[in-house]
Amino acid sequence: MLNHEAIRVVPGNFRRDEVKGMESTLLLSASYEPIKIISWKKAVVLSYLEKVEVVEHYERIVHSPSVSLPLPAVVRLHRYLKNLPRKVKFSRQNLYHRDNFTCQYCHQPQPAHQLTYDHVIPRSRGGETSWTNVVTACVHCNLKKGNKLLHQINYRLAKEPKEPKWLPPADFHAFLNHCTEYGIAERISPYLGHRLKLNLA
Ligand SMILES: [Zn+2]
Repeated sequence: MLNHEAIRVVPGNFRRDEVKGMESTLLLSASYEPIKIISWKKAVVLSYLEKVEVVEHYERIVHSPSVSLPLPAVVRLHRYLKNLPRKVKFSRQNLYHRDNFTCQYCHQPQPAHQLTYDHVIPRSRGGETSWTNVVTACVHCNLKKGNKLLHQINYRLAKEPKEPKWLPPADFHAFLNHCTEYGIAERISPYLGHRLKLNLA
């Protein structure tokens, strides 16, 4: 049985070389919605405090003087949270994710460094900086559009810009890449996709 003192001490006692590159754990709500990425140490502590159950783990075992355990990859809260964060922050990265890294004018997917964002109704004509008036655009289309309106250059948006209900934070993607490196991405990706699917429904 571990007492609270042990809980504080144990995670810090793992040898650093054993956990290099393995800092990340996906935290799920009680209803299996992905909430955020936390450090593996925090996940271990939450697990000892019986706040979470470990749903998936890495193959690798880490050792402290008192315990050995597989590093948690996905943990799930026991308690239901009433106030999950619902609003998606308006940011360049989130905008790119909403638009699937696809230029909304020429409808071509692009790597992030080729993308910009553009006001559909230009600011000079009173267009707002908001989810419904800003879209992802490639550099080429952005230059071409300039201060014009869509119909003036025969552009049609790939989809109507809306405020997203939910988007995976950018670090979900990094986490999934990380899981790919450790050969557990197939087991992990359903947990990341769950909330997306709910949103599409
Ligand atoms: Zn384009």
